[in-house]
Amino acid sequence: MIDPATASAEVDLAAYRHNLTAIAELVAPAEVMAVIKADAYGHGMLACARAARAAGIGWLGVVTLAEASAVRGDGDSGRLLAWMFGPDEDLAPAVADDVDLGVHDADQLNRVVAAAATCGKTARIHLKVDTGLSRNGCPIARWPALCAAAAEAEQAGAVEVVGVWSHFIASDDLELSATADQLVCFERAVEQARQADLEPIRHLANSAGALQVPESRFELVRVGIASYGVDPGEEIAAAHGVPLKPVMRLRAQLVNVKRVGAGTAVSYGATWTAPADTVLGLVPLGYADGVPRHASNLAEVEVNGRRCPIRGRICMDQFVVDLGPGASDQVGDEVTLFGGSSSPSAEDWAEVCGTIGYEIVTRVGTRVPRNHRGGEQGG
Ligand SMILES: *Cc1c(COP(=O)(O)O)cnc(C)c1O
Repeated sequence: MIDPATASAEVDLAAYRHNLTAIAELVAPAEVMAVIKADAYGHGMLACARAARAAGIGWLGVVTLAEASAVRGDGDSGRLLAWMFGPDEDLAPAVADDVDLGVHDADQLNRVVAAAATCGKTARIHLKVDTGLSRNGCPIARWPALCAAAAEAEQAGAVEVVGVWSHFIASDDLELSATADQLVCFERAVEQARQADLEPIRHLANSAGALQVPESRFELVRVGIASYGVDPGEEIAAAHGVPLKPVMRLRAQLVNVKRVGAGTAVSYGATWTAPADTVLGLVPLGYADGVPRHASNLAEVEVNGRRCPIRGRICMDQFVVDLGPGASDQVGDEVTLFGGSSSPSAEDWAEVCGTIGYEIVTRVGTRVPRNHRGGEQGG
């Protein structure tokens, strides 16, 4: 772990609650599921779970059963959906913990039914249909049979089919026809579920869908990235009147400052050489901490209100910035990589690295301490 004075991810839980509340107001009467998988996209899962509940969020979403178990272990007893488990995982602890489970085929259904019998209770499931993403939904051809089997298990008291759901391919890019096609496919799948005597809630939208595809909101939307204040696409949130605030600010102290002469090479491989005398600053974060090596010689950071370019390759534990020839910055001065009011954003980093803002925040490494603020309600 890096000392928190030297570098940290500052996580503003008040901003997180603000974003969730703004999204909840936009999508109402649909409800919001706060997606806190992958350590809440790097923001700290349990802190975000508590903050989401404090903001009145009724549903939490995780991927793994271990994530669900950790949320329950923290004392959370609200609605919680987990949607990925392998063929050898024991589902009984999740059923015992009142964790809703995503189910996409007969084998999973049978395993949930067995777990319900083990626990002596009714398991809560959400049937997932593949409407075009080709990941883990049930193919349309097998969907009516899955619905029939689930209805039978429901009548037997083994399961309650709480929801029918699917996931978008490209709700951030409405120029593709995929979103409209998926909506049609989803509505048809819901109709088939109803014909099998199921009465599920429906959920389809992720952040981009929730923001810009109103007809995809149904009873529930599953929101991850937007809740962390990172836009799911090109200014989608602002265009829909949702002013998102970045939740994570990645910062460090300058740990070295030195004047170098023209012709000085910087970092491994000498990919940058100073064209003139300048002052270099050393930032104690590297690709081990999730700073993408692809950002070498491309991204900028903020130091004392100025944008300073990264020079040379990003190393495992550190990188060098060009503070400029007249720089008077000192060791100990604050560097903000992203998430500050006048710094680059996670989206800016994503753009120069050819990736998405999701990856920039989620990859911040375990060595970087998370410092949560604003955890008190209203704080
Ligand atoms: C991660 C995930 C979400 C949240 O997506 P965002 O684009 O971050 O809002 C929703 N649903 C599923 C199935 C997911 O895996």
